[in-house]
Amino acid sequence: MNNSKAPIGILGGTFDPVHHGHLRLAMELASELRLAQVRLIPNGRPPHREQPGATPGQRAKWIRVATAEEPLLALDDRELLRDGASYTVDTLATLHADFPDNPLCLIMGRDVFAKLPSWHEWRRLFDYAHIVLIERPGLSATLAPEAAAELSARSASDIADLHNSASGIIYSYAPPPLAISASRIRDLIANGHSPRYLLPATILDDIMDSKIYHSPNGEDY
Ligand code: ATP
Repeated sequence: MNNSKAPIGILGGTFDPVHHGHLRLAMELASELRLAQVRLIPNGRPPHREQPGATPGQRAKWIRVATAEEPLLALDDRELLRDGASYTVDTLATLHADFPDNPLCLIMGRDVFAKLPSWHEWRRLFDYAHIVLIERPGLSATLAPEAAAELSARSASDIADLHNSASGIIYSYAPPPLAISASRIRDLIANGHSPRYLLPATILDDIMDSKIYHSPNGEDY
């Protein structure tokens, strides 16, 4: 099957570190929505984020390692290569320039979508991409009124709509839940517990070797 013009999924995040929750979500979406691929885009570290954490280079390397064997998934490090803050709308513009024939599907949780109107030039997102709204247990959120209005105006329930139009649709999807988060992985390590099986083994080995998330007085598990 020629999937070269199928939509491309865009999964942004901190990925500190990448784990099976991210990777499985990306696979579910690639397969359910018949995407050409899902690109995982690590962002620069927000200044308020708790320390310690992995450097941008480490976070990108782990995504590259985790996706190396799976052609449907790929690291996209464009936000790390740019100076200063990366606005999503600018990232989507460069993706659109790189992949002009593929609709883009910006993947975001309902909790993030709820606050979309606070984003830089948020309405322009719909000029470049569809939004795939991820419903997760415990992450229900009251939508800002303008976000609710966009949702009712742009909702589509047919996957073909994501393929047949270039941008502007909102498609809701509830993946099989996996209760994994990067913060839980960091907490487990900092407290001397093992996060094995929550993330790929090679990444865990690298984390343990470099002691990135260990607390200063922490013991190895
Ligand atoms: P943290 O715990 O540090 O906040 P995280 O793992 O929850 O990290 P990110 O690394 O920023 O979050 O995740 C990137 C994207 O992946 C976000 O859209 C997030 O909602 C989603 N995501 C993270 N974990 C899961 C999961 N277990 N199931 C589905 N989606 C997930």
